[in-house]
Amino acid sequence: MFQLPKAFPDEVLLSRLIRFVTISGVSSTTLLESSFSSKKTSIHPFLTSGLSRIAELCNEDVNVLLKEQTLAPLFCFYLPVHADYLQKMMLTNNGAKAFRASQLASFGSGQSLGLKSCPLCVQEDLSNYGVSYWHRSHQVPGVATCGYHGTVLSFLELTQRQRIIRQLLPQLETKIQYSPPVEYMVAAFSTQLLGLLTAENPVHKVTDAYRYYLNEKGYLTQSGRVRRQSLMHDFYKYISKHSSTNAALIPRKQDDFRYLSQLLDEDGSHHPYRHLLFGTWLFNSAKQVFAYLPKPILSNENTEPDNKYNQQAVEQECLALLKTGKSLAQIGRETGKSRCYLKRIALLNDISINLKPKLLTQKVINAICSLAYYGFHRREIAKRCGVGIGAVEQIISSRPGLVERRKQCRFESARRKNRVLLLRYLALHPESIRKDVKRDCNSAFFWLYLNDRAWLEEALPDKLHPSGRYSN
Ligand SMILES: [Zn+2]
Repeated sequence: MFQLPKAFPDEVLLSRLIRFVTISGVSSTTLLESSFSSKKTSIHPFLTSGLSRIAELCNEDVNVLLKEQTLAPLFCFYLPVHADYLQKMMLTNNGAKAFRASQLASFGSGQSLGLKSCPLCVQEDLSNYGVSYWHRSHQVPGVATCGYHGTVLSFLELTQRQRIIRQLLPQLETKIQYSPPVEYMVAAFSTQLLGLLTAENPVHKVTDAYRYYLNEKGYLTQSGRVRRQSLMHDFYKYISKHSSTNAALIPRKQDDFRYLSQLLDEDGSHHPYRHLLFGTWLFNSAKQVFAYLPKPILSNENTEPDNKYNQQAVEQECLALLKTGKSLAQIGRETGKSRCYLKRIALLNDISINLKPKLLTQKVINAICSLAYYGFHRREIAKRCGVGIGAVEQIISSRPGLVERRKQCRFESARRKNRVLLLRYLALHPESIRKDVKRDCNSAFFWLYLNDRAWLEEALPDKLHPSGRYSN
């Protein structure tokens, strides 16, 4: 039985194994022979297999190893067809089959296998933990940027078959380079998504989420077909500053329609980076991948032809109606267009729209009053209840006693804060005299002097008696 060092946040399993052989004195040969009865077993940096055996030998939870210390969650999410087989091969000791199930070899991205690290993360880890380690989020294939810092990741190629090598941990580097913003966005999205996938299982296929949000943004026709010209135009514009060091992962040109049609194919197998790039552009945040999706509005009964002239005429009609200041609901009824579509074209054409205010039901009013009673800020109440700040103010002022109660809350909060400031200062400076307190805690001193004088007198050091000619 071996005791691996505890995992640091976002640490990949191979990193823990390397730290284990570095500090324990147990050799990698002994570790591999005990685990797999073969010293030749090669440990993959992010699709580590033989997890059941490692978990058994090191008294670990195999699900934690699989979900938190490998990239299995990301691959399973983007390759649903291969997900079960991939996990099975990773749990058993079938490294080569697990790698084949990941489809990485077939994507032809031409990347050699290695370990990536961020120089700023290394600095932080050394200062926080006294040791650097390999982060899981840095190992996502195709991602060459730190999702936390936006820095270019360093790459250490793994040339040997044996990867559990003593001291093989990221080194401190002084050269810091930053990636183009689009690559930083992809890395940040990837890091966030990985974290979410570790914590929960997605309820939808990624392709369902794509279709839903494409429809929301007006990239689907009423019959559910993709408006590939405008979609590709906008997507290509977004990634125009992306470096092309790995050309297989980004669209070749603006009319590379296959790139997108493949991603939207629910049984397709594509390099995870392609999905990450597209997802970064389409979703505002990785959380949207997990959001509850209402049934997409893809009515196949609607046989209206996808005619460009027709589309433009409808758009012009909607714009004219929007300019008259009619409500979205009314325009929707007249034109048959969704609120999302109308909001989008209004935004694109700089037309301000009057959204119907949320109805102030008794339930909403009670929630506002309750939050107000406990002293929440008006802005926070407005946000939580989904109403305007004006409505919150109106309700607070109309409820007897609530304004006074909130004033009292603010007073007590200020009193607590200032008392604590003063007491903390006195505890740190037991020798101080009144003049010091007044000088160093000026604002707290005067607040208490004006509002809480009796307490201040009690708390302050005793007054010094003037030492004059008559004193002893
Ligand atoms: Zn970093």
